[in-house]
Parts: sequence; structure tokens; C-alpha cells
Amino acid sequence: MVIILEKNATEVQIKNVIKHLEDYGFEIHQSQGVERTILGAIGVQPNFDTRKIKILEGVSDVYRVTSPYKLASRSFHEDNTVIKIKNVEIGSQNISLMVGPCSIENEAQIFRLAEVVAKSGVKILRGGAFKPRTSPYSFQGLGEEGLKLIRQAADQFNLLVITEVMQIDHIDMIYKYTDILQIGARNMQNYSLLKELGKVDKAVMLKRGIAATIEELLMSAEYILASGNKNVILCERGIRTFEKYTRNTFDLSAIPVIHKKSHLPVIADPSHATGIRDQVPPMARAAVAAGADGIMIEIHDDPENALSDGPQALLPDTYLNLIAELKLIATAIGRTLE
Ligand code: PEP
Ligand code: MN
Repeated sequence: MVIILEKNATEVQIKNVIKHLEDYGFEIHQSQGVERTILGAIGVQPNFDTRKIKILEGVSDVYRVTSPYKLASRSFHEDNTVIKIKNVEIGSQNISLMVGPCSIENEAQIFRLAEVVAKSGVKILRGGAFKPRTSPYSFQGLGEEGLKLIRQAADQFNLLVITEVMQIDHIDMIYKYTDILQIGARNMQNYSLLKELGKVDKAVMLKRGIAATIEELLMSAEYILASGNKNVILCERGIRTFEKYTRNTFDLSAIPVIHKKSHLPVIADPSHATGIRDQVPPMARAAVAAGADGIMIEIHDDPENALSDGPQALLPDTYLNLIAELKLIATAIGRTLE
């Protein structure tokens, strides 16, 4: 930790700051600049609340040098984490796609879309059975019936399933039907849910919260890792900003930032990040170019009548064209998309 003192900090104030730091167990290195004093506090304390120092008189700024997350950090685990699920590897040089409707709506719909997904060469089928909707009057998902349908459709076409788990008492049920458990943006900081999913022996995909910093996303991943589940996938799905022309603002830069800070794979979700169909292909292309380890895309063959997120769903033809483009971009950056 580095502590910058105010220009006019008095000797008494500086001594007081040093005393506090020593009492907290840090070793202090003092450096006297021309204008101000800088203190280096040595000693790894990931949970130390820097505000304890920031509030002291004479202190101008406090910076952390080490990250507050450990298991999620690249310095703890230098190589990329590759998550193997049956015939799929997430986080390898191959880019994984997760494609399907926002919600599982009925048997015919999920089977038709699973066929589109399988024909495009993609191996992971997405679809929600428990939906976190802004309005309680909107379609909430088919529940367990939906889980059965997506599992049957996935098995028919030899696909893996990813679906969202919203609450702890659904984990056992959803576990039976899915290969990857998704934690939605609204639950990114539901710490009791994160801890329970840390005890599960299937991969978890953690989506970035609607107003969460990258550090907060990594701290949430830390909860799952610290509870024992090492198979954590991160997902950038857009954040809330002042911009109104898109549903969310796609934080493309989160992809290289996370890759630098963490060894965990990063999936980009341009569907929820933009919320508008014609913006999905350009942002999907950008995400592959930026180094995403996978892309999540919502598709629908009758988006006008979709029960959720129709306006952001790609029609099968547009989706197939996009896959061809993504393959070209993957090749250009030395990756594959199979
Ligand atoms: C979803 O992927 O179905 C979803 C609800 O996404 P998010 O949690 O990112 O809003
Ligand atoms: Mn959706």
C-alpha cells in the first residue's frame, strides 16, 4: 500500500499515520520528496480497508499495490484456466459460443433453436427457465418444465446446456439438467448464492453486475473459488451508464483488463450488452477481436413474439452469417472457433 501525505502534513500527523500503520501490522518505508512525504506500507493484507488510513489527518491518497482477490488473480495462477466440460474446453485458444433463446418457451421452440445451434457447429445451448425480469408481470420462465425441455433438446443435438440459477434452493434441481450454471447480473453480489455455487462440482458462469466494477466482479469470483469451485467463467454483459441509445454500455475493455488481472476465461455477451439486434453482430466481432474466450448470443426464429428479449435476438440467418465472420476474425488473431 502506498500512502501519499498532504503537502502541508505536519510531523505529528505523519508520525500518527505511521503509528496506525504499524499497529495494523505493516512495515513502513518513508520517502521524503521535495514537496511531500510518501509512505510505503509493506505486508500483504488483502482484506485491509484502506479507508482506515484515508481518513487520518494529513493523508492525501492511499493506493493498493496488491489486489484484494487472490485465487482469481493472475499472480496466483499464471496460466489461463481452461475449463473442460465433456467435449468442450472454455478458455483455450478455441473460442466457445453459447447460443440459444433468452427463455425456453415451449418444446417446439427450443428444439428448433437447438437444431440451428447444432447446425452452426456450436456446442453450448443457452436458455433460461428461471428468468430475472424487471417486471413481476413479465414472463418468469417455465421453471423445471423448461429445464427438462432444454436438456432433451440439447441431448438430441449433442449440445451442452447453460442456464441461470437465481436462488439457492433451486441449485439441486438445476444441477440435474445443466452443464454450466449461470449467475445472472442481478445476482453477481448475492454472496450466499455464490458460496453455495462454490460447493458445486459443475462450472459456473458469473455475469458482471449491472453497476459493478471489474474488481467487484473478481471479488465475486473469489467467493466461488474460495468455497472450492475452481471452474469459474466470467462474463461481460454490459454495464449501466448514462447512455440511452443502447440497453447497457458494452465494456469491451473489460476483456483485456480481466485477462491481465485474472487467469479465468472471459465470455462476452453482446446481446444483453446492447439490447438491440443490429448492434449485436458488430459488438460480437469486436469482442472476438479483443480476445474474448467465448461469446454468448441470443437467437430466436420469431422474435416479434418472443416471451423475453425479442428485440435483441438474432434471426437464424443473421446469426449464421455472424458465425462465419467470427471465424475469420478468430483466424486473424491466431485462434479458432469450432
Ligand atoms: C440472461 O443471460 O438470460 C440474462 C438474464 O442476462 P443478465 O443476467 O446478463 O441480464
Ligand atoms: Mn435475455
